[in-house]
Amino acid sequence: MLSLSSTASKFTSKSHLSPKPTMVKPDPPLDIWKSPRYLNETFDVRVDPEQITDFVNDIEALGLKANHWITDVQKLIDEISTGRDRRATFSIGAFNDHASINAYLDSLASANPHVTVHTMGNSYEGRAIKYVKISNNLGVNKKAIYADGGIHAREWLAVTTVLYFIDQIANNPSRDRTIDALLGKFDFYFAPVVNPDGYEYSRSHDRMWRKNRRPVISGCHGVDLNRNFAYHWNPDNGGSRNPCEEVHAGTHATSEIETKHLQNFLCSHSNLIAYLNVHTYGQYWIYPWGYTPILPADYRDLDHLGRSAATAIRHTHGRTFTVGEDTRVLYAAAGGADDYAKGACGVKYSYTVELRDTGLHGFVAPTSYIIPAGEETFAGFKAFATELVHYEHL
Ligand SMILES: [Zn+2]
Repeated sequence: MLSLSSTASKFTSKSHLSPKPTMVKPDPPLDIWKSPRYLNETFDVRVDPEQITDFVNDIEALGLKANHWITDVQKLIDEISTGRDRRATFSIGAFNDHASINAYLDSLASANPHVTVHTMGNSYEGRAIKYVKISNNLGVNKKAIYADGGIHAREWLAVTTVLYFIDQIANNPSRDRTIDALLGKFDFYFAPVVNPDGYEYSRSHDRMWRKNRRPVISGCHGVDLNRNFAYHWNPDNGGSRNPCEEVHAGTHATSEIETKHLQNFLCSHSNLIAYLNVHTYGQYWIYPWGYTPILPADYRDLDHLGRSAATAIRHTHGRTFTVGEDTRVLYAAAGGADDYAKGACGVKYSYTVELRDTGLHGFVAPTSYIIPAGEETFAGFKAFATELVHYEHL
C-alpha cells in the first residue's frame, strides 16, 4: 500500500471560488472527492499531510472555512482492512477480490437456471469483465434493466451493492413476491466490476485509485472511464487532458478498452429501458445530462421514477437521496456512462446512483455499510422498477 496518510476536509464554497480550487496548485494534483454546485455548498478534498497547512492557509485567506472531516484517511483504510476477509472466499457481506467475484458469478449460473454468465470483453490487463443475465425465460420482448458497479476503482460499495442486487433477484432469499413480479416483466443484467484492473489495484496498492490502469505517459497511469464515453466527450468539461489527474478523460473518446466494451454492451441490448451506473458517495439518484445543464425533454419521467426510488430508500434506513439532473445536482462532467446510454443508445431511464454516505467515510466505506447499503439501494431499485411497470404500462 502506498503511503496515503492524508486529511479529507470539507470546505464551504463562495461565489468567487470556482468548483475546482485552481488557485492552489500543489503537486501531485488535488484529489477532489466532491465538488460544490451552489453558493455556500461544501466541497470535499483529500490533501497530503505535508501540504495541509499551506492549503488551509490559502483557503482561509480567501475567507473560506475548512473543517477536517477525516483526519487520517490511511488510518481509516487500515481499520477497515483489518476487518476484511483475506481468505478470498466469497461473501455478499464482504469486499471480495475480482477473481472471487467472477467465480461467484460462474457458480451462480451453474446452480440457477434463471442465471447465465457472459463476458463483455477483457480489461487492459486481461481480466474478464463479466455480467449476469437473470431471466425467468418466460415471455418475449421483455424490457431489460441493467446496473453496473466499480467503474471507479475505489468505490467498493458500488461493487458490493450490485452483487447484493444479483443475490436478491437470483436467489430471492426472503421469498419476496415483488421480485417474482418484476421477473415477470423484466430481464435483468448486472456487471459488478466494470473496471477490474483499477479495482484490483485499489485493493493491492492504492485504496484511493479511481481510474483504469493503462499506462498513458511515463509515470502516470489510467483514464477516468466515466469521462471517456463517446457522447459529447469533452475533457475540458468536468474532466482533464492531464494524464496525471484523477479525472483524465483520455486522449479521445472511447480511448479505453473498458469503455469500448461497456458502450458495445449498452447499445447492443436494444431492449434496455433502464440503466443504473452505481457509484459512491453523496446519496444522489441523478439523471442526464452530465455534459450540459439543459434538461432532456423527458426529464419529468426520469425525475418521477428517481423520486420513487429515493422514497423507498428513505423508508429503509432513513437516508435521504437527492434526485435531479447530473449537472444541476452534482457537477458538469462530459463523457459519462449515463449520458452515453441515454444519448447514444436510447436507454430512456439512465441514472447515476451515488450511494451512501455524505462524507463521514467518503470513499472508504466500512464493511458494516455493505448490507445496509445493499438493503436500502435494493429497496429503491424495487420501487423504481415497480413504478416503471405502472408508468410505462409494461
Ligand atoms: Zn464514481
